[in-house]
Amino acid sequence: MSLRVRSAPIAPPVAEPNSGTHYGDNASAAATLPRQVRQLLCWATKSGRRPPWRLSSDLYELGVAEILLQKTKAEDVEKVWRPLIDQYPCSSSLAVADDEALLRVIGHLGLGPQRAGRLKSMAAALAKSPGPGPVPGLGPYGSGVLALADNRNPRAPPVDGNIARVMSRYLGVSFGRGEARKKTVIRDAVATLLARRSPRRKLALVYALVDLGAAVCTPKSPNCAGCPLSRSCASAAFAEAL
Ligand code: SF4
Repeated sequence: MSLRVRSAPIAPPVAEPNSGTHYGDNASAAATLPRQVRQLLCWATKSGRRPPWRLSSDLYELGVAEILLQKTKAEDVEKVWRPLIDQYPCSSSLAVADDEALLRVIGHLGLGPQRAGRLKSMAAALAKSPGPGPVPGLGPYGSGVLALADNRNPRAPPVDGNIARVMSRYLGVSFGRGEARKKTVIRDAVATLLARRSPRRKLALVYALVDLGAAVCTPKSPNCAGCPLSRSCASAAFAEAL
């Protein structure tokens, strides 16, 4: 890995909010995406996170984790996830949980009635059977993760904030308005990366991108020198050329 690669610059403000501003070689970066899979998975094997819910194949346990993780750090969620599962060992038990008892558990994370309601909605839905669409209480990302864990392909690839940031920089594109995770160019790039792989392999790649965004391609100071995508990242190339 070249040590000459510098941290990627934060993209300039945009004048084209719908299509985004390109400040790198967007087309060639996108074309290299399928070839990045091995580097990404190799990096994740060595440096990715291993929270306990990722070892579970139980959709209910994974759904509980994804709801707790909404705007909450994984290391904090780890303190509550297992006690919550122990107290409510199946979706049916959480679906009818006493509100005060549930709040006593998730209150350790500073979470209140709204999150408790999402947990119960998700549990009630899973107690019946997960359908092809969004799972109540979970957004498109969490619903997509559950679909992949269930060995099904979601309607759209799961894209959270970390994944959107990595992909935006990799492609060399930024947006002035709206969330990057909802932009077509970002969703298409993630779909390209995941294409023609099994749901389980896709889930491993999704987790790898999330972890890369959390640990390497961070919001303020991306560590391009330590990034498995640096050789073909448009932002890293742009920084190198400055
Ligand atoms: S994806 Fe990697 S190489 Fe590109 S900006 Fe982020 S940390 Fe740097």
